[in-house]
Amino acid sequence: MIVIYPGSFDPFTLGHEDIIKRALSSFDKLKIAVSEDNAKTSVFSLTERLEMAEIIAKKYQNVTFASYKGLTVDFAKANDANFILRGLRGTSDFDNEAQLALMNKTLNNSIETIFLISSNNVREISSTNVRQILSLNGDVTNFISKEINSYIKALKR
Ligand code: ADP
Repeated sequence: MIVIYPGSFDPFTLGHEDIIKRALSSFDKLKIAVSEDNAKTSVFSLTERLEMAEIIAKKYQNVTFASYKGLTVDFAKANDANFILRGLRGTSDFDNEAQLALMNKTLNNSIETIFLISSNNVREISSTNVRQILSLNGDVTNFISKEINSYIKALKR
């Protein structure tokens, strides 16, 4: 079974990685789908977000990555995936995610959204807060992997 994991990954956090690691015990292949068009304006460029996805994909077997634009269900179908993976941290995630999943189901009834509840130790992590801490020159080592941290540090900004 193939699953796609869509998101902005702006940047890639330990919360995202936790979801990937755990999903791999249920799926044969996982494709990280880095969204190109985004309602949120991303801080990291698409190229940078793809490079971070590549770093993560290299760490795990059976994980690939690609960027996509347009409907997530269309990207899933084009990749022979019948499942969309999303992570849930709490009730605010739930409200948005349930709405999104129901609309995606209406758009393509053959594709199911699968949710994993965030692990306790990464539940507080959000890309938004990581970006904020980075902009204030704070320490993000507890929120992103060492590989992603090195990548971000090496970016000339
Ligand atoms: P999007 O803009 O599509 O929400 P994100 O990169 O913010 O993209 O998130 C991608 C997915 O990862 C979403 O399902 C989000 O809920 C989930 N996610 C983000 N951070 C965490 C975390 N700390 N624990 C579990 N899931 C998470």
